[in-house]
Amino acid sequence: MKNSITIFTVLIGLSGYGQDRFSKVQIEPQKVTEKIHMLTGSGGNILIAIDEEEVVMIDSQFAPLSDKIKTTIKGITASPITYLINTHHHGDHTGGNENFNTKETTVVAHKNVRDRLKSENKDEGYIPELTLEEELELKLPSQTCMLIHVHNAHTDGDTFIYFVEENVVHMGDVFFNKRYPYIDLKSGGSINGYIKAQQRVLSTINTDTQIIPGHGPLGTYDDLVAHVEMLETISQEIQSQINAGVPKASIINETSITARYDELGYGEGFINGERLRTMIYDSLVKN
Ligand SMILES: [Zn+2]
Repeated sequence: MKNSITIFTVLIGLSGYGQDRFSKVQIEPQKVTEKIHMLTGSGGNILIAIDEEEVVMIDSQFAPLSDKIKTTIKGITASPITYLINTHHHGDHTGGNENFNTKETTVVAHKNVRDRLKSENKDEGYIPELTLEEELELKLPSQTCMLIHVHNAHTDGDTFIYFVEENVVHMGDVFFNKRYPYIDLKSGGSINGYIKAQQRVLSTINTDTQIIPGHGPLGTYDDLVAHVEMLETISQEIQSQINAGVPKASIINETSITARYDELGYGEGFINGERLRTMIYDSLVKN
């Protein structure tokens, strides 16, 4: 009985926190180009692309925020959302799917996103209807929208989306701008795949491309270059310590591995230096 009272109290506490948290969230639009806007609120950054009478939306944050997001979109365009693309399956990027999935809308994502959401028993309106395995090109009235899958990066179902003419890419959680990334090892993510995925984006875009990260501020090519270098440096150091037989606990406690980047503020988000070292260690020994 005592246990159940404790659990009950914890749940009340959490739900109260949740409602309060969403009620205070403001959705902030930012114009990236004439046709593309980035929306921030709580959860993954949203991209809105307007193409004549069509709208492409990338990611949908959390369901309790959908009405606020709709109001913000109406302030930008009255056209219907024809495609809602999910960069991956996590709830802070797909939570609003059902609320935006009207009869004009096709939800698009990698095949593994569909499989994962189905296995979580999400309702039909939440589930991607059009899937890709490697690449998919959406033909919009006046521009090209390329969807490219990257393997075992943040998860096993990541897609980055490149608007060629507008020269804007949305990377989902394959990029946390100016922050250490979260890598979901249980959902097929890996540090080596994450680095390769970022390199793949660099080889697809150009130095003038504007980058919408999954989390963090709008970024540049140089921001992404710096992020890849950070991950390569830390990952190589951890790998060399593993090769030298240093035990896990020592590597995780070795603050000097990330110190240079901790000082730059990379650890001030969701993932601090210690969590990053643990995640990279676990991923490297798993490979
Ligand atoms: Zn994610």
